[in-house]
Amino acid sequence: MLDELLQQAKDLLGCQRQVRVKVRPLKTSIARVSFKYGTITVDPSVLELDEEEILYVLVHELAHLKAETTYHSSAFWEEVGKVFPENKARELEDSIMTKLHRRMV
Ligand SMILES: [Zn+2]
Repeated sequence: MLDELLQQAKDLLGCQRQVRVKVRPLKTSIARVSFKYGTITVDPSVLELDEEEILYVLVHELAHLKAETTYHSSAFWEEVGKVFPENKARELEDSIMTKLHRRMV
């Protein structure tokens, strides 16, 4: 399911790069992305989220990759905005945070 959601997220963002997603326990956040390897790592807890929330997590990390920044800059939000309007994105982040008690990076 994760791979399908990743493909969906890539299509929605128009991301051409080869990206892999793997599940591994993370200490400080629920997801992270490696710019060097194009790998998104998600904490196992992410799999407990609703499909739309998981899609958001993947879009969020892909947006970092596409905007080539670890910051939540305007370039980052421009990428996210191709899929989720900013208020919807904030709503999903709040919901994810409420469920998992951790932020994403
Ligand atoms: Zn982020």
